[in-house]
Amino acid sequence: MLDGMNALSTKASKAVNRLSDLLFPPVCLFCHAPMPAGNGCCAACLADISIWSHRICARCGSELPAPLAPGPCGHCLNSPPAQCETHSLYRYHGPVREAILGWKLQGHQAAVRWLLAQSMPELQRILGARSLLLPVPMPLSRMRKNGQHHAANLCRWMAEGAGCQWRWQLLRRVGEQPRQSALSGQARRKNLRKAFALADDYGPLWQDLAGQVDEIWIADDILTTGSTLHYAARASLKLGKPVKVLSLARTSLKQ
Ligand SMILES: [Zn+2]
Ligand SMILES: [Zn+2]
Repeated sequence: MLDGMNALSTKASKAVNRLSDLLFPPVCLFCHAPMPAGNGCCAACLADISIWSHRICARCGSELPAPLAPGPCGHCLNSPPAQCETHSLYRYHGPVREAILGWKLQGHQAAVRWLLAQSMPELQRILGARSLLLPVPMPLSRMRKNGQHHAANLCRWMAEGAGCQWRWQLLRRVGEQPRQSALSGQARRKNLRKAFALADDYGPLWQDLAGQVDEIWIADDILTTGSTLHYAARASLKLGKPVKVLSLARTSLKQ
């Protein structure tokens, strides 16, 4: 009897799936082209998605010729960033760029979630149960206006998948700054120098966490020049743990 009912419900759910495929035919999450099976990404988009190189300077994460990896690169020999290690998951290009822009500008998160799901083995390799993720903080006014904190969402999704902790309250943005994207490289660095600090009330929060954490990862969606992450990492050194940097995507050209 039960077997019969199970068979019936399997048949019913297959029929529902067929119906939903008819009503909502599977499409690529990136280019929205129809697809035969709903695995999220069509062959053309998949071919255009690049993961970030593993031949990198371990400190700043920039690409290096194979014999020179893992660095340190010339830049890190002269003026190393605040973080001791940097990882990026994807090259900021093509479908990855479109996915991130669609998420940030229009709130479509499915393609970004798909990219994260694909990179989960890599995230599980670099993050451990005693890693703590901190999103690059955004100004409170922008958070109120948009109602979204993208770096914090990213941390939540990464932490859920990798089994580690994350907190958005420890590191804060100080004062109001113009949008980084509107500034030149030099103005951007000047603007960022005092932009981050530990929250005034971080003491009790950190007291509970410190014993559970071996390393801190500052996370952001896009790493461009690395200035933002450097200054956010520098403000986090006060916590007394190794501070590392993680980005979903990274632009190829140094600016
Ligand atoms: Zn596609
Ligand atoms: Zn380097």
